[in-house]
Amino acid sequence: MIKLRSCRNCKNVTEEMKCEKCGGDTVLEWKGYLFVLDPTRSMIGKKAGISTSGEYAIKVR
Ligand SMILES: [Zn+2]
Repeated sequence: MIKLRSCRNCKNVTEEMKCEKCGGDTVLEWKGYLFVLDPTRSMIGKKAGISTSGEYAIKVR
């Protein structure tokens, strides 16, 4: 099973050591899974400061 990581910077969920969206470091310690399809209409997305659609973590350590 592939371990998913999350970016410390933008909360993007990825398998890579470096975030492909912002180039930030990714960590294995994250909680909550958020899939944003339409950030302009997602309340959770707005709250988390997400501006592009994709997969995100809710909490990143
Ligand atoms: Zn990032």
